[in-house]
Amino acid sequence: MTLVFDGHNDALLRLARGTQDPAEVFASDAPGHISLPKAARGGFAGGFFAMFALDDNHGLDFAIFDNPPYDTPLPPQMPRDVAAEKIARQVEVAHRLEAAGHVRFARSADAAVLEGPGLLAILHLEGAEAIGPEGEGLDALCAAGLRSIGPVWSRPTAFAHGVPFRFPSDGDTGPGLTPEGKALAREIKRRSMVLDTSHMAMKGFWDVADEGLPLVATHSNAHAISPSARNLTDAQLQAIGQTGGMVGLNFGTMFLHPDGGRGGKGALDHAIRHLDQMIAQAGEDHVGLGSDFDGAPMPDQLQDAGALPNLVALMRAHGYGETLIEKLCHENWLSFLRRTLPKDAT
Ligand code: ZN
Repeated sequence: MTLVFDGHNDALLRLARGTQDPAEVFASDAPGHISLPKAARGGFAGGFFAMFALDDNHGLDFAIFDNPPYDTPLPPQMPRDVAAEKIARQVEVAHRLEAAGHVRFARSADAAVLEGPGLLAILHLEGAEAIGPEGEGLDALCAAGLRSIGPVWSRPTAFAHGVPFRFPSDGDTGPGLTPEGKALAREIKRRSMVLDTSHMAMKGFWDVADEGLPLVATHSNAHAISPSARNLTDAQLQAIGQTGGMVGLNFGTMFLHPDGGRGGKGALDHAIRHLDQMIAQAGEDHVGLGSDFDGAPMPDQLQDAGALPNLVALMRAHGYGETLIEKLCHENWLSFLRRTLPKDAT
């Protein structure tokens, strides 16, 4: 079975919102896109595990994606203390999974290997509200294993502006990085961490390039195929390749369909068109997967991690060779992590 290392999932948020022991839920076949049994069935060997401070009063209703065109209002900024409390709970869940041996969080380059007990994981923060404008909170989160930061989810932060869920639109929907955002980018670079630009408005994307970081979009697709504000133009995809970065294919149906809809039917067929475009623009060494499992509606043929072989079969049927399939499914992400993460874990 082809093993998958994936650029983005929201399993920690799902588990943190539940009332049961997260390690037990993860080991069972309970509902949700990722669990140990599903991972075993589908060849899911690991990925970026995101922590996200969900605003209970401004949740995203997926029903809006039924009727393109659409444009959702951005939720208001979240105060740092509110975000920090929510993220602390998800750090706890991450450590519970690690203590149970279900996952191992890579803290250094040499730990970015698929072999070993449990799933390989990168602890990621989606939206940096919990860090604070002067970088407060960063040391503690790094000590807890954090190795990847998206300065902004779609609501604005002290660091950057995010794109609304708007279709059709490109990502040029707001200003670039703030001075605090540029300082955070430099700090991420200094610490050999990953900076994720998915959700970031286009001006911020280019600001990240100006700071000399590799451009990474862990879960975004090709704007040329599906003109969503969340997807990347050809120029952005080219820059990802040129800077030695990575883009991960998002399985969220509304980012796959050329009409921006969220139907599960036929959605997976468009995945191959996105991959073709991403490979053509970024190059075959800079494209991977970025499922958005537990964070987005999934295609009918890819309802959870157990169905990943369906995507691999489509790649094969489309004529991708085994070497390319291995690159897309895990090798490119692993190479990127080995050249990016700190040499030692301290
Ligand atoms: Zn996201």
